[in-house]
Amino acid sequence: MPKPRILVVGSSNTDMIIKLDRIPQPGETILGGEFIIAAGGKGANQAVAAARAGGDVTFIARLGMDMFGEKAVAGFVQDGIHTDYIVRDKAAPSGVAMIFVAKDGENSIAVAGGANGRLSPADVKRASPAFAEASTVVMQLETPLEAIETAAALAAKAGVLVILNPAPARALPARLLKLVSILTPNETEAKLLTGITVKDERSAAQAATRLRAKGIAIVILTLGSRGAFVATDSVRQLVPGFCVSAVDTTAAGDVFNGALAVGLGEGGSLLEAVRFANAAAAISVTRMGAQPSAPERKEIRALCAR
Ligand code: ADP
Repeated sequence: MPKPRILVVGSSNTDMIIKLDRIPQPGETILGGEFIIAAGGKGANQAVAAARAGGDVTFIARLGMDMFGEKAVAGFVQDGIHTDYIVRDKAAPSGVAMIFVAKDGENSIAVAGGANGRLSPADVKRASPAFAEASTVVMQLETPLEAIETAAALAAKAGVLVILNPAPARALPARLLKLVSILTPNETEAKLLTGITVKDERSAAQAATRLRAKGIAIVILTLGSRGAFVATDSVRQLVPGFCVSAVDTTAAGDVFNGALAVGLGEGGSLLEAVRFANAAAAISVTRMGAQPSAPERKEIRALCAR
């Protein structure tokens, strides 16, 4: 079976993580941390997750002409991701995130989006041929909304499924939501978009109903270790998560979305695809880092078979 073609539009960052006893106060210097550099950014995480899960992935993004951009592209190539539509920006640096992680798991993060903030409708339009060939387009909200809206419109015109992961949380225009086939908020994002506090299956169902009323056919609410709540015209049910021992939940949602796109692109049922995505995300939380934690297809299949 040919690999499903997945088009990811979004952000790419380099995460610079320092693990410390505690988060430094303003004005304070703490010695004795461990430093880790890991590839991140929601768009890139989703692209890498989809590629490892078995997708033929094209990534549309903007990076700087610096060593971080160099390294990010090399990582994508290693994962077999098509990089033809990644623009290298001469005027802005690659996106970086500075992350402090304390012993107790608390973190503090500052992001300099750099070139991500300059991903434009023209960058997306340049990739028009890729829309015609894709089975699914996956997007998030770390790049400008105009670029995302352009991509959603191109996808709708090409009859391609659009997955929008509305993260980080922000209000969204109705005209964009109308072009989305599948919306995948977590609890925080669902709260921002609906005003409903999602704490159990019942409130998840209520939030999903409110989102579907905005014209989105399929809503998948991710509920951390509990799994994901799926709502369509005919289905309203929880797809339970896999029981694992979590080490680092960074990028769990990203891995979920990347794997979901592959599961759907392979023509499986929605519930099968969500189970596949739950399995991929569960494996990712057992490992440190964003992209380093995204599992290979074989591992996902093995957990699904369990
Ligand atoms: P986000 O990472 O965006 O906050 P969630 O916390 O809802 O999103 O996690 C996304 C998905 O990752 C969940 O739907 C689930 O499949 C998986 N997941 C997250 N945390 C765990 C966990 N502790 N154990 C197993 N699976 C998890």
